[in-house]
Amino acid sequence: MDQGKLLSGKNVADALNEKSIAQIKFLKNKNITPSLTVIIVGEDPASSVYVRHKQKASEKLGIISHTIQLPQTTSENDLLAEIKRLNTDTSVNGILVQLPLPNDINEQNVIDTIDPLKDVDCFHPQNVGLLSIGRPYVLPCTPAGIIEMMKYYQIESDGKHIVVAGRSNIVGKPMASLLIQKNRYANATVTTVHSHTKNMQEICKQADILIAAIGKPAFFSKDFIKEGAVVIDVGINRVEAPQSKRGYKLVGDVNFDDVVDKVRYISPVPGGVGPMTIAMLMRNTITVTAAQSGSSLPE
Ligand code: NAD
Repeated sequence: MDQGKLLSGKNVADALNEKSIAQIKFLKNKNITPSLTVIIVGEDPASSVYVRHKQKASEKLGIISHTIQLPQTTSENDLLAEIKRLNTDTSVNGILVQLPLPNDINEQNVIDTIDPLKDVDCFHPQNVGLLSIGRPYVLPCTPAGIIEMMKYYQIESDGKHIVVAGRSNIVGKPMASLLIQKNRYANATVTTVHSHTKNMQEICKQADILIAAIGKPAFFSKDFIKEGAVVIDVGINRVEAPQSKRGYKLVGDVNFDDVVDKVRYISPVPGGVGPMTIAMLMRNTITVTAAQSGSSLPE
């Protein structure tokens, strides 16, 4: 396989983290240390892994990191009370509630309760609104990470047809929202396809850039891809792999082996978009800390 086709998230994340370290140093010189508190409810194994990665990344960069582990049986009221306590705690700059939550907790009530100034995920309606009118306070981590990846590899989006597969509030919608902005690394013609889309294959095949975020292992075969297209695979799916030590492996939404000969670039899973998401979370933690202390960060 031509290694030059691979969009390595690790390389981009390393470059972003270098900038983050410089910004943290700038804040520390003013006696300000960014802090991030992550709340996790229950013991979902994938969520526990993500939270550990977030904590490790924070510590590596010099961000104060706390994880609050709550039991699966936590009531919505208790979770909201914990968030309200963190909202008023001035030593906490960023708050992240790991999703998904247990079924009897209303996710939207939880997101709405986080102080928008501490919302490092860009999930709060106020921040989603600011993003959509082109005045973002913070950027949505996974979509903004994808834009950073495109910048790093000099993949032009201006005037290109980009198909975003998936319309979740976490990936698909904010991705489309970012790509239609009047920005150097946006300005795209965006089509969103989802579970109710007819002729999905035909539409995907028209894409200069396909961003796959539907959560279905190896769904996109070469029949969905235009020759020479760029494919960004957001999916992280656990599939059984009895021969592996963990008993499972991670695969994307794209059938990598099937499409690789046809594409110009492709992001692998793992090692593609995943590291970008965490690097952007670190950046958002720095952004909210600076905003809360009235400091402007150096570029
Ligand atoms: P989600 O389940 O909330 O949304 C999936 C979307 O895909 C929905 O909008 C649905 O309409 C659409 N969809 C589902 N099946 C479809 C089909 N057969 N055809 C067309 N559309 C279909 O998922 P999500 O939170 O957006 O995550 C999507 C994937 O990305 C998951 O695998 C998730 O694990 C992964 N993810 C990765 C990162 C990362 O950092 N790499 C971050 C977030 C999510």
